[in-house]
Amino acid sequence: MRRLNGQPSALPFAFSRSELDAIADGIGAAGFEVRLLPAETLPPGSFHPTRRQYQSTPILHHARKVLDGAGDLMAKLLVLTDADIYEPGLTFTGGLAELGGKTALVSLARLQSGDRTKLVSRAVKEGLHELGHVLGLEHCRDQKCVMFLSRSLADSDVKGSAFCDKCRAVLGRAAR
Ligand code: ZN
Ligand code: ZN
Repeated sequence: MRRLNGQPSALPFAFSRSELDAIADGIGAAGFEVRLLPAETLPPGSFHPTRRQYQSTPILHHARKVLDGAGDLMAKLLVLTDADIYEPGLTFTGGLAELGGKTALVSLARLQSGDRTKLVSRAVKEGLHELGHVLGLEHCRDQKCVMFLSRSLADSDVKGSAFCDKCRAVLGRAAR
């Protein structure tokens, strides 16, 4: 797996309230009704002391518990974290989703390049991308589609923050 251009940061870079609102608006603009939940610490068991990274699957399991506790059967939960995350066998992962499930995760650790506006925009796109997987979408070959697989920050910047017509059609069929 190729590394994205950005290196993981040593320090957390919490979003401001207005940045979080901008991310929620961006995701909402794609047709989602968004509600922000309070920040939580990552489950301690997900931290790998030697790799100094967090494993993504236990974070998704935790997210699933939070979501089940909320009691909204139709809701999906997207977790944004500044932690660098991985899955066994991979150097890192930018995000993970339960395909056709309920929860998704995006790491911002390798999406930053010092430009906060771009970071917010990438968070929207990669968040929508993982939500697309949650809704059953696979990767799309259209470079402008949010379901295009970003292999670099440039890929993330080139793609739009919307589903292409083809992906929207699949979403429409799934919703029926
Ligand atoms: Zn993907
Ligand atoms: Zn598409």
